[in-house]
Amino acid sequence: MALVNIHFLNLRNNYLFADIAKKVNAFRVMHPKADVISLGVGDVTQPLCPAVVEAMHKAVDEMATAEGFHGYGPEQGYEFLREAIVKNDYQPRGVRLSIDEIFVNDGAKSDTGNFQELLHWDDYIGVTDPVYPVYIDSNAMIGRCGTFRDGQWSNVRLLPTTAENGFVPELPKGRPVDVIYLCYPNNPTGTVIGKNELRRWVNYALKNDALILYDAAYQAYIQDADIPHSIYEIRGARKCAVEFRSFSKTAGFTGVRCGYTVVPREVSVSTFEGERISLNQLWLRRQSTKFNGTSYISQRAAEAVYSPEGKRQVQATIDYYMDNARRMLSALRGLGFECYGGENAPYIWMRTPDAPGPDGTMAPTPSWTFFEQLLYGAHVVCTPGAGFGPSGEGYVRFTAFGSHERTDEALRRITVWVRK
Ligand SMILES: *Cc1c(COP(=O)(O)O)cnc(C)c1O
Repeated sequence: MALVNIHFLNLRNNYLFADIAKKVNAFRVMHPKADVISLGVGDVTQPLCPAVVEAMHKAVDEMATAEGFHGYGPEQGYEFLREAIVKNDYQPRGVRLSIDEIFVNDGAKSDTGNFQELLHWDDYIGVTDPVYPVYIDSNAMIGRCGTFRDGQWSNVRLLPTTAENGFVPELPKGRPVDVIYLCYPNNPTGTVIGKNELRRWVNYALKNDALILYDAAYQAYIQDADIPHSIYEIRGARKCAVEFRSFSKTAGFTGVRCGYTVVPREVSVSTFEGERISLNQLWLRRQSTKFNGTSYISQRAAEAVYSPEGKRQVQATIDYYMDNARRMLSALRGLGFECYGGENAPYIWMRTPDAPGPDGTMAPTPSWTFFEQLLYGAHVVCTPGAGFGPSGEGYVRFTAFGSHERTDEALRRITVWVRK
């Protein structure tokens, strides 16, 4: 009898984007003529840059010839790409990596979800709250999260990040966490972590023999010079951290698919007997068994991101989105909303306005209530913060990935709606 992996049945159904779509559809049925603008989804909108498109065309033409054909590539990715990554993403920031510490993949979601396979099923997980749901769900699928009761997994430590702590989690007191997921610049809050704060987490990991899984998918959006782009800018991180990066938000590769994971040679975890096991070797073993590489065409496309034209063009698109973020921050703050993020990331995390609760006292409008008010009042879609975790309640997320025209129009409508 084939039995099911019951952990899949214990997953909390994350209906966030399905729920949003349902509510938007219900609105559309009632208001078929309304033009709804979405500032909700976390996908890019601007086309691939010319340098990338040219590299892809060239790679396809190569594949059409006997001499230029490429079948299965090297497990860790082509050297041309890993060399470009080391040379452009790390060397200029004083981080020395060798190409056998880079693992090219088909996007960061796969590896942020898969990397936990290398860890003991009972390791205690720490995640920030609100959170990118992949970190929790991928652990829940193998049973590492324990049981879900009273809105909380028994083996997951939620580390609240709110305006009160500057969106950087406090070090956990009591039982230490074994594995910590950190994402900076953060999705969904759009906030960043400074070097001193990141150093506190690296030191925590070194002291407690914990592993940090660092998601830097949005590092290309950092504008302030003193914000770290990589966790390896912190001394000691090579011993305790794995870093995930992606071309998705950097260069519009959400449909092309390419990213990479850095697993330094020194990072290791322990057996019960105390033997140290290199995660670099283990991840190589895992990848060569379960993953057959990213397409040659995608890897040539990614390489082109590092050419002089590629760098300029990719930067222009990032500037375009960050221009949206500036317009949004300025308009929303001008209306009196309390906004975070949006300065080093393409997301704005906005506190919902206070409203009288059932007992008459003022409290932040629940995020789903505000979502509906905004949809019906301004025909603009945001993402309710509660969908990202309990500490997301009282906030909504806006993305800066739209066009200037649609973003401006959304802001105009929000202004009219608020002033009514
Ligand atoms: C978009 C995103 C990624 C990148 O996903 P890909 O699979 O590379 O497209 C990774 N982490 C976070 C938090 C993201 O928002």
